[in-house]
Formats: sequence, C-alpha cells, structure tokens
Amino acid sequence: MSAQSLSYAIDEQDHLVKVDAGYYSFAEKNGWAEAGASLGRSLWDYVAGHEMKKLQRMLVRRIRDEVGDVELPFRCDGPGVRREMNIRIVARPPGRAVLFSAKVRAEEQREEPQPLLDPEVPRGKGEVEMCGWCDRFEVEGEWVEVEEAARLLELFNRPELPALNHGVCPDCSKMLLAA
Ligand SMILES: [Zn+2]
Repeated sequence: MSAQSLSYAIDEQDHLVKVDAGYYSFAEKNGWAEAGASLGRSLWDYVAGHEMKKLQRMLVRRIRDEVGDVELPFRCDGPGVRREMNIRIVARPPGRAVLFSAKVRAEEQREEPQPLLDPEVPRGKGEVEMCGWCDRFEVEGEWVEVEEAARLLELFNRPELPALNHGVCPDCSKMLLAA
C-alpha cells in the first residue's frame, strides 16, 4: 500500500484549471498519454461513456447547487494492480470551482496482469461492458470482478480481446445518484 494522492480542479465551465504533481505521476503510471495537455480541456473529455458522463455531470451540478461536498469510494485498477481509492469533491462558491482530491486507500498487485484492463492490448470482435466507477464487468447479466470476467469469457483461450464498452453498473448508478 502506498500513500498516493492526486487532485485537480475545474472552473465554472468545467475546464481543468489546476492539476497537481500527483495527477501527472498517476497519469504516467496509468498510461494516459495526453495528460500533459490536460489544462484548459473540459473535464468531460476524460470521462468515458455517455451514461457515466451524464451521472457525473449531475453529481457535479448537485455538489455546486446544494450539497457542497461528497466523498465516495471508487476503483482505479490497472492491468497489474487492484486499486481502491476515495475521491472527495468539493464546491468552492461563489466562483463555483470544484476541487477533486483522490487518494489510494488500498493497492494490491494482481497475481497475473489482466489484459482486459490494458488499454494497449488490441481489441477484436465482441464487446464487454465495463463500469467506469467500480471497474467491474458485465457478463451474462452479472457484474463481476475482472478475474471472474476473464474466466467466464474464456479470454485466455481467445485470439483477441473484446472491445470495452464504458458504462455504469446499477450499484454505482444508485450510489452516484444518492451522493
Ligand atoms: Zn460499478
């Protein structure tokens, strides 16, 4: 376990106006190649999937308008690591800037890297839905951890991996709406 943290802030138009050193080192470790060009871009360029964007936009709006701040658990796994994090989202009126601070709560090496989580791995036919908040996958109607998904989808016997479709599982959808 390590004590990594990162933070970033958006202005009233949801543009990234500040990112800290933790953001860059995290980006580098997780292969977000364009992180260096983040400043000035819309936060929503970095949120994958229509449904997740919609939920997070609603959450940010509620934090600005009524709630003030929330803290939520989320997952940020990598191919070789299982990572549990917390994110605190705080509105700063009257400018309505919003500050996001995330920190690693627990980190564990995976026994074998999970190719499903590797953005560099080429994708072929077929699609699998991944929740952008908890990093679980939907297989035959169930939301399961990546290891279970790999087993159920028999990924190790396939010549190519299915494409990832970024969505939101019902548990996370409920949590984001209730935050
Ligand atoms: Zn989820």
